[in-house]
Amino acid sequence: MASSAIYGGTYNLFAVTMKRMGIEFTFVDPDCPEDELNAAFKPNTKALFGETIANPALTVLDIEKFARAAHAHGVPLIVDNTFATPALCRPFQWGVDIVTHSTTKYLDGHAATVGGAIVDSGSFDWNAHADKYPGLTTPDDSYHGVTYTERFGQGGAYITKAVVQLMRDFGSTPAPMNAWLLGMGIETLPLRMAKHCENAQAVAEWLQKHEKVAWVRYAGLPGDKYYELARKYLPNGCCGVVSFGVKGGRAAAERFMAGLKLASIATHVADAKTCVLHPASATHRQMNDAELAAAGVSPDLVRFSVGLEDVNDLIADLSQALELV
Ligand SMILES: *Cc1c(COP(=O)(O)O)cnc(C)c1O
Repeated sequence: MASSAIYGGTYNLFAVTMKRMGIEFTFVDPDCPEDELNAAFKPNTKALFGETIANPALTVLDIEKFARAAHAHGVPLIVDNTFATPALCRPFQWGVDIVTHSTTKYLDGHAATVGGAIVDSGSFDWNAHADKYPGLTTPDDSYHGVTYTERFGQGGAYITKAVVQLMRDFGSTPAPMNAWLLGMGIETLPLRMAKHCENAQAVAEWLQKHEKVAWVRYAGLPGDKYYELARKYLPNGCCGVVSFGVKGGRAAAERFMAGLKLASIATHVADAKTCVLHPASATHRQMNDAELAAAGVSPDLVRFSVGLEDVNDLIADLSQALELV
């Protein structure tokens, strides 16, 4: 079962590719009341999944609500912490069992490598729900007949199976050069995240006051729907990604995009360089306004991933591009 506010690539993996493999997902509104969340579980639900800060919706997950529901149903909570990174949120503190990352984003930080990571807290008791997790609690014929929970214990069962069986079989192993580049990026993660947050907060506050901006979504803005959750789970900042609407809809947003000089127009996000995307004229350009609304993307929406440039230069770029609208 997964939050419906998740990255599009993950949604496709869950809703289409994994379905073909016989694994079905139930999707739930992450903001739904707790009883509705509990009611969505099925007898064969094996895990609950969400994103700390969802890409691109920028919803902040009520992590404890999700953890309570998962544990009440004897399944682990898995959270994608790509946008928040460990510098801004440590999901294990709030009851998450397993954390995933696209390391392609802030962890590398420079668009140098593609990769991912799984971090297991070791806190989920697989043996207490052994019937649900035979892959961990019964012998693996493909790996010396090992029973992972017996041989590696609660703390090592899941992550050892992921490495010795699944990485081996699926080939999701990073090249040494990519692993080295990722290690270099991680060395400066806390410094970079502090600067991304500071710049994004300033950009969001500036946008909010601009007459040509219809709305701004950033959980660091007082009054944002997710402000209170962000104060609890993201006290040091809400990452660099801000979304906003340009007054005048799709055509106005296109004129704004064409006017940008410093910010790069790119589908990539969460990078040292400022990356901007107008889904209605790029990733979602085949959709009309009604189809966009159904996909949760408004025609005026601009996703602005604030980089590490001088914030005055970024605001000057935004200012001159908005003049052209
Ligand atoms: C980009 C992204 C992914 C997928 O990452 P890749 O490294 O591009 O495969 C997964 N989750 C989130 C939240 C993302 O932003």
